[in-house]
Amino acid sequence: MVDRTSYRPAVAALSGYVPGEQPPPGKFIKLNTNENPYPPPPQVVEAIKQAAHGPLNRYPDPMAGAFRNAAAQAFGLPGPEWVLAGNGSDEILTLLVRGFVGEGEKLRLPFPSYVLYRTLADIQGAQWEQVEFDENWQLPNSFGESGEKLKLALLPNPNSPSGTIVSRDAIVDLASELPCPLVVDEAYADFAEENCIDLVVKHDNIFVSRTLSKSYGLAGIRFGFLIAQPDVISQLAKIKDSYNCDSISIAAATAAMNSSEWLADNCRRIIATRIRMALELQKMGFLVTPSQANFIWCRHKTIDHRSIYDFLKQQQILVRLMDYGHRGDGLRISVGTDEQIDALLFLLANYVS
Ligand SMILES: *Cc1c(COP(=O)(O)O)cnc(C)c1O
Repeated sequence: MVDRTSYRPAVAALSGYVPGEQPPPGKFIKLNTNENPYPPPPQVVEAIKQAAHGPLNRYPDPMAGAFRNAAAQAFGLPGPEWVLAGNGSDEILTLLVRGFVGEGEKLRLPFPSYVLYRTLADIQGAQWEQVEFDENWQLPNSFGESGEKLKLALLPNPNSPSGTIVSRDAIVDLASELPCPLVVDEAYADFAEENCIDLVVKHDNIFVSRTLSKSYGLAGIRFGFLIAQPDVISQLAKIKDSYNCDSISIAAATAAMNSSEWLADNCRRIIATRIRMALELQKMGFLVTPSQANFIWCRHKTIDHRSIYDFLKQQQILVRLMDYGHRGDGLRISVGTDEQIDALLFLLANYVS
């Protein structure tokens, strides 16, 4: 008989991570999970078509060598052994927690931040502790303090839901204080003014995690990667699934590494829309946190956020309502196409006036 006592206690106690709603395509303007509103680079689509004619009866390259070479080149790394490919950066994060944080040990996170990290620690039967951002989304120095059984620190940069950034200098300081690796989750870094990739070469406890889901418009492909020193990569490679990335996604990701012009254009376009959207929201009485990502965190001065969320949903626009307990709630709105954002702003202007 299988009942609750059959499972590992850590699993039975889990409530499970709930990802953002994925409604059937076409029904909603989807501004709730920070996907790219534009289709991916054409050369990526072409590579996928070609891969479909490849030897699909054969297993893929276990280490995704073609991708690692292309990524090492694109990011100016010393070599492909500095890159680990994953089935989405969520898998990379899973491998990091699995590799570094054992039962009863500790993971450090900022708050408010990406909620999945906590679930990953819970699965391990590990503990997590949160260091709270201050009112202006600055990270206190205590994030770098050592702590008993502290084995890993995870920092999304830019952060979600705020879109704010911790500076490179601050990250170097934190890493030099910490007794454990510091993972900088750069899911949104292509939209930001700076990133930490080059720090990995000089600092053996700074790792950078990346995804193709946001800036490359490839959330449907499931591909992410880690940049860290070769020793870290080979240790983590031991605990991944043998064939964690499939031939189609490896081909897509390899082509994506060669689409820097497309990427720059796409990011410019999204940032321009983000700036316009932030200004208009402010005019409507929203307090908007300055964002370096492809989404905006905003709170209205007078109107209840749930009512705004419900109204928009009724109008077929999906945004994310987040509640952070004593930090209060707010709306995280992804930057869509200009047409999508025009529709959002038009409806909101009527609602809040
Ligand atoms: C979206 C997101 C990811 C997940 O990326 P996938 O590659 O799609 O798994 C990781 N970290 C943060 C902070 C994100 O917002």
